[in-house]
Amino acid sequence: MHVLYRRLKEDMPALKEEIEEAINEGIKFTFLVTPLQALGVDGHVVALKCARMRLGAYDDTGRRRTTVIEGSEFEMPVDMIIPALGQEPESHFAEVEQNILIDPKYRTFLVDERTRMTNVPGIFAAGDDSTGPAMASDAIGDGQRVASAVDRYLGGDGILWKKRERLIPMTTYDERDYVETRKEFEQYVLPIEERAHNFNEVERGYSRDQVMEEARHCLHCDRCVLPA
Ligand SMILES: Cc1cc2nc3c(=O)[nH]c(=O)nc-3n(C[C@H](O)[C@H](O)[C@H](O)COP(=O)(O)OP(=O)(O)OC[C@H]3O[C@@H](n4cnc5c(N)ncnc54)[C@H](O)[C@@H]3O)c2cc1C
Repeated sequence: MHVLYRRLKEDMPALKEEIEEAINEGIKFTFLVTPLQALGVDGHVVALKCARMRLGAYDDTGRRRTTVIEGSEFEMPVDMIIPALGQEPESHFAEVEQNILIDPKYRTFLVDERTRMTNVPGIFAAGDDSTGPAMASDAIGDGQRVASAVDRYLGGDGILWKKRERLIPMTTYDERDYVETRKEFEQYVLPIEERAHNFNEVERGYSRDQVMEEARHCLHCDRCVLPA
């Protein structure tokens, strides 16, 4: 596997650990290279035409723009290409057919922050489609907030679940005085030689004892809201 990236390693919008783990697993990275064209024979891809890139001025993300170096084109033999370019919602149909307002730059659905509704009454948007690329937990939380907003729109009170009764007794003293600070446990990860050619889980989480120990970090700030 070979990853081509048109900027530098430090510009990659991926978690540092994930890049390091990929390198440790033997995946090659070539920086300052951009794909130009997939070349095929009899309907099968055989090579990727690429060009080398030159770093230029900084853009509004704080990263340097890149431009193609004239005459630097080369062909790389490949048997499969996995494009991993920026993604955006396919919102064109909603804009054209439903007149829903779409962010011109990110193509996300524009929603009213309070009602979570688009400009078209009764049409709501949640998750990555309205926030842009985020984490699964953001999308789940957003889905809950929008479900509540839909309920209010339909005449309900927006309360779709009751808070769980707390099993942890409230403390009357400031626990921070009693909490020891220490680094979190390192997770057990599958050895590199056992990772290739399978879909085995690499990050194995914590043991029961480690979980119990980590959970003792809780400062009882009482801000958790758990669905019933
Ligand atoms: C490569 C990658 C890695 C990621 N890694 C992580 C990670 O490690 N941890 C993490 O927390 N998050 C990760 N995320 C982000 C996370 O996947 C998203 O934030 C989350 O899935 C967004 O949820 P969503 O419900 O908004 O959208 P999605 O999960 O995209 O769900 C949208 C659904 O709508 C369906 N759909 C689309 N169009 C239509 C249509 N016209 N009609 C009917 N159905 C339609 C789609 O098929 C899809 O099932 C990653 C994302 C990517 C792309």
